[in-house]
Amino acid sequence: MELTGFTEEQLTVRDAISAITAKFPNTYWQECDQNERDPKEFHAALAKDGWLGIALPEKLGGAGLGISEATMMMQTITQSGAGMAGAQAIHANVYATQPLAKFGTKEQLEETIPKIINGTWRTCFGVTEPNTGLETLKLKTTATKNASGDSYSITGQKIWITCAQVASKMILLARTTPVEEVKRSTHGLSMFCIDLDRDKPGLDMRKIKKMGGRAVDANEVFFDNYQIPANTLVGEENEGFRIILHGMNAERCLLAGEALGLGYAALERATQYANDRVVFGRPIGQNQGIAHPLADAYMKLEAAKLATYHAARLYDASRTDSSIPFHSVGVACNSAKYLAAEAAFTACERAVLTHGGMGYAMEYDVERYLRECLVPRIAPVSREMILNYVSEKVLQLPRSY
Ligand SMILES: Cc1cc2nc3c(=O)[nH]c(=O)nc-3n(C[C@H](O)[C@H](O)[C@H](O)COP(=O)(O)OP(=O)(O)OC[C@H]3O[C@@H](n4cnc5c(N)ncnc54)[C@H](O)[C@@H]3O)c2cc1C
Repeated sequence: MELTGFTEEQLTVRDAISAITAKFPNTYWQECDQNERDPKEFHAALAKDGWLGIALPEKLGGAGLGISEATMMMQTITQSGAGMAGAQAIHANVYATQPLAKFGTKEQLEETIPKIINGTWRTCFGVTEPNTGLETLKLKTTATKNASGDSYSITGQKIWITCAQVASKMILLARTTPVEEVKRSTHGLSMFCIDLDRDKPGLDMRKIKKMGGRAVDANEVFFDNYQIPANTLVGEENEGFRIILHGMNAERCLLAGEALGLGYAALERATQYANDRVVFGRPIGQNQGIAHPLADAYMKLEAAKLATYHAARLYDASRTDSSIPFHSVGVACNSAKYLAAEAAFTACERAVLTHGGMGYAMEYDVERYLRECLVPRIAPVSREMILNYVSEKVLQLPRSY
């Protein structure tokens, strides 16, 4: 990757994270993936050096840097060979804490954030539901305030919740006003930062068998009158969608960085193999049929890189510069995630094909990268929904759904 144009902070982050990831070779990630084993040593190593608080305020024990630096951190992680599994073991602790840091009470911040940063508690993000899919504004999981007013009762189901098996906390989006009673469609949901206490009644979870990133668990989570204290509400009741959007834009930047890292890692493997592998008396990379798709993949990654770090910069600047419209940040973050995910897919697919039969062998890692690079295309928002968003909000075309 071309490093010109990055800030000193970003390059420092890249060097420091590379020093940590160097201790976790590809064989570590292959083993975690094959045995579906949580990379807890990796999470602990990043927590030990304070990296989980990269984008959290210094007064809470964070590094006080921005999403621009956090994106670089996530890119460096996936690029090291850790892939999406390495990123997914970390990233909710970075993005899901953003709305908490902005809207949480002093008590919530002081009790929660330092323990997330030092790795005592891990976090997961509970938004997606099986029966509403991408229609987030129709979420059905309810949080009903009990008569005493000091607790809520949670009932409903979440799906695809990454790291729920190992997390102590969940940033939860749940309905506090029935959908038919809301004045605006964005109203009626609330954000909570809750304990996942497996000893309490009303909480159950089930692991989903999946294609890639097998080192990290993904789960169905079931709530049945699960009781949570009222002081776990973050920000205003019924304003949870607006609040969580703050974390979602950060998440899109991080995912874009993760996709880029995976794409660059795949491309590096492909070019190395294309130089080393000799068939018909010459390196296969001497054939333009091999070289040109790789050159094309590189340029696509570089273009997506510009979009990604532009979006992250805008996100960070918007925190202090009120002249930057929220809409512009959203468009930039969504576009970056889309472009980076597509560029990563191109690079990973071509890396497998460049390896011929060996592209299919676990030992060469590129099959793992290809399996994992589908995640940024699907989550946290699909390609189609980003295209819908840009068609409608930027191009002013009629809403299609
Ligand atoms: C590995 C992995 C990890 C995840 N981790 C988490 C997590 O930690 N927390 C969490 O909350 N969620 C998580 N998710 C969920 C993820 O965010 C959702 O899967 C994603 O948002 C897509 O939602 P869905 O699966 O319900 O798709 P659906 O809404 O069922 O959509 C299915 C397909 O239809 C298309 N589609 C739907 N409506 C339209 C339309 N109007 N126009 C065009 N196309 C449309 C979609 O683009 C998609 O291709 C994860 C998912 C995966 C795969």
